[in-house]
Amino acid sequence: MSFFASVEMAPGDPILGLTETYLADPRPGKINLGVGIYVDEQGRIPLLPSVHEVEQALTAAAKPRGYLPIDGMPAYNQATQRLVFGVDSPLLAAGRVATAQTVGGSGALRVAADLLKQVAGVGAKIAISNPSWGNHRAVFRTAGFALVDYRYYDAASHGLDFAGMLEDLGRLEAGTVVLLHACCHNPTGVDLDTTQWTRLIALLKERRLLPFVDMAYQGFAQGADADAAGVRLLAESGIEAFVVANSYSKSFSLYGERVGALSMVGADRDEAARLLSKIKQTIRANYSSPSTHGAALVAGVLGSTELHARWEQELGSMRERIHAMRAGFVERLAAYGAPDFGFINRQAGMFSYSGLSKAQVHRLRDEHAIYALDSGRICVAALNRANLDTVAAAVAAVSR
Ligand code: PMP
Repeated sequence: MSFFASVEMAPGDPILGLTETYLADPRPGKINLGVGIYVDEQGRIPLLPSVHEVEQALTAAAKPRGYLPIDGMPAYNQATQRLVFGVDSPLLAAGRVATAQTVGGSGALRVAADLLKQVAGVGAKIAISNPSWGNHRAVFRTAGFALVDYRYYDAASHGLDFAGMLEDLGRLEAGTVVLLHACCHNPTGVDLDTTQWTRLIALLKERRLLPFVDMAYQGFAQGADADAAGVRLLAESGIEAFVVANSYSKSFSLYGERVGALSMVGADRDEAARLLSKIKQTIRANYSSPSTHGAALVAGVLGSTELHARWEQELGSMRERIHAMRAGFVERLAAYGAPDFGFINRQAGMFSYSGLSKAQVHRLRDEHAIYALDSGRICVAALNRANLDTVAAAVAAVSR
């Protein structure tokens, strides 16, 4: 009998499963709106010219590949701090932020989860929006956290259930971690405005909850600085401790390079130093140290004034294309006589909760070869001028 005989088959990932079904679909003109990446007008993952330029210089320099420090490349971590907290951040000036390069945003979440579990002990609890990115629950559950949901999405308005959110968070025990999406909420596309952030932060402070901001789409809603508004307001709030996980997968179109970072804010320089030592200990026992290439690309772009400016423009083009697709989609849906989809223009980022039911999503797939998630989530970035009309006609047809 094999040592592994009792191992059961784990359930497959629903999103990746959908892509497999899509790939096996023989129908010409099939369209996949189930993806979680930004693709350009031609449906391709872009290689940003600013990134390409750094890459060519790196290739020409042909440097040896030594290990990075456990917490990653110093230039990358400094550039990350400035991008996340702002160039003039008082927190950075006070040395209150411990930042480490991680294996994507997912790696930051996992390292933080392991560390926070150590700090919080057996009662570790995290509140996660309902709904949220599926891996949020998986990461924190695996790290040993008890999970609680807080209300977030309001299906009736296709917007935020802010009152429900505050009510649920207001009931949490002090010390509970509260996971928040900085912008471009995945999967709904529904974000907080600055007034709501301010009210939320006041509640987090009063209830002594630990804010944990996940920023995977910085720059995809309104711009790199504007999208960090929640982080900046937390920094100004007087809250002594909070956590930020950020990812460059989308903003630099570097998905497979696994570039992200974890930043933990402490009460003072000494606390930040202790936090960094714990982050390093956690990373060391996990994957020892991160990889070089992606970090060198990001640090190369952000470290040059000229390339940084070009990257902001390239990011702006991705953002504007998504905005244009949202607007075009809403307009064509109206032209095809669909019920009002104007809320799609109020949602932000790559995703939109379309409000389509599971049955409607299945009709889209079966009758029109258009793939979306059962939840109704569509990737707006998968729309382009060539497929917009087809998708709008099909969505209108199944919504009647
Ligand atoms: N957080 C959210 C909300 C995400 O959507 C994603 C990526 N899908 C991540 C974190 C993880 O990003 P990465 O690919 O850099 O691990």
